[in-house]
Amino acid sequence: MKLSHLKKNIPKIKTDVSLKEYTTFRVGGKTRYFFEAETEEDLLKALVAVSNLRLPLFILGGGSNVVFDDEKFDGVVIKVNTKGLEVEDYKPGSKIIYAEAGTPLLFLVNKAKELSLSGLEWAAGIPGTIGGAVFGNAAAFGFSVGEIVKTVETFDLESLKKRKFNQKECCFKYKESIFKKEKKYVILRIGLVLREGNKKEIEKRMREYLKKRNKSQPFYWSAGCVFKNIKIEKPEIKLKIKKALPEAEKFLRSGFLPAGYLIDRCGLKGEKIGRAEVSQKHANFIINKGGAKAKDIIKLMRLVKERVKERLGIELDREVILAKNFTVDSDFWVRDNKRREIKNKKLLKRRRKGKNLPKGKEK
Ligand SMILES: Cc1cc2nc3c(=O)[nH]c(=O)nc-3n(C[C@H](O)[C@H](O)[C@H](O)COP(=O)(O)OP(=O)(O)OC[C@H]3O[C@@H](n4cnc5c(N)ncnc54)[C@H](O)[C@@H]3O)c2cc1C
Repeated sequence: MKLSHLKKNIPKIKTDVSLKEYTTFRVGGKTRYFFEAETEEDLLKALVAVSNLRLPLFILGGGSNVVFDDEKFDGVVIKVNTKGLEVEDYKPGSKIIYAEAGTPLLFLVNKAKELSLSGLEWAAGIPGTIGGAVFGNAAAFGFSVGEIVKTVETFDLESLKKRKFNQKECCFKYKESIFKKEKKYVILRIGLVLREGNKKEIEKRMREYLKKRNKSQPFYWSAGCVFKNIKIEKPEIKLKIKKALPEAEKFLRSGFLPAGYLIDRCGLKGEKIGRAEVSQKHANFIINKGGAKAKDIIKLMRLVKERVKERLGIELDREVILAKNFTVDSDFWVRDNKRREIKNKKLLKRRRKGKNLPKGKEK
């Protein structure tokens, strides 16, 4: 029934597709269903069909910030391939570029340069789509995509209606957004405000950022930085860091403590599990040296987190999205619905047996 319903609404849906090829980490098992949406119309049709069947869902962009588990995913992966740009005049000296969510960020950065529009130079060299970048508020060299977002058009998987967000409503914070927090809005189209500038200068800045990137990052399969840098806001964190790392004073002034620096200080560069390794070049990158399994990468992430906590008392927060079948640390979208269902079943059982119910769940 499920497959026939899906086939009817999404004729190009595929079954048992390996996810490995769709991520920059080159790991991951198969997904039961897989669909590449080339147009917004196809995407919306597929989202409604999947929501009606209440199937577990994962929305995929360029796959450059995600680790899929080795186990088969018993749900649907929809890859957003919708591409397209439109440019409109905005306030004097600026323009808005509207981009479909599946537009590669690199294409957008180059297009902005061609149009002599400035504001995205820092993103030269970041793989993935603009939809993925907005979801995770992609950032580099002190800039972030959220700063230039004007509007984000989405599809709400709960109400099955479109919803448009302005910049404030997106709740952008360092590597965070409302989309990442709530996991129920599929990003369709983004409006970015860019300033009119000088093409040659834009090109020069892009080259400089790319140079810095190539100098510091490894050339292996990876998903970029694994952990978020530590924002040093609270005085107690400042004190903790001063005590553990007196030489980190320079970072305290900048307000951010790079996760890579902490990992390096714990002597973890070169640490390996299977074919997964903490990069020697950049300690916040875990690299696949060829043939790594997702389980090796996940184990290595845990080991790094535990060691940093043990040695420096600092808790690292994962940036990379972990897509595991319904486990506590998974980032699958409808996991919460599934868990709610499981929890409700358990509560029902307890009720039938006349056992005490947890606080807040009493009749
Ligand atoms: C070599 C390398 C360098 C990198 N450098 C940087 C860097 O400097 N700064 C930085 O911030 N990141 C960096 N990254 C990480 C990554 O490229 C970015 O986070 C990127 O923006 C992710 O986009 P994506 O399309 O690949 O998302 P994916 O990896 O496909 O997905 C990431 C998350 O976004 C969600 N998502 C994707 N598309 C949509 C959509 N249309 N609607 C709703 N949700 C969606 C997915 O569900 C998933 O949870 C780097 C990665 C690599 C491999």
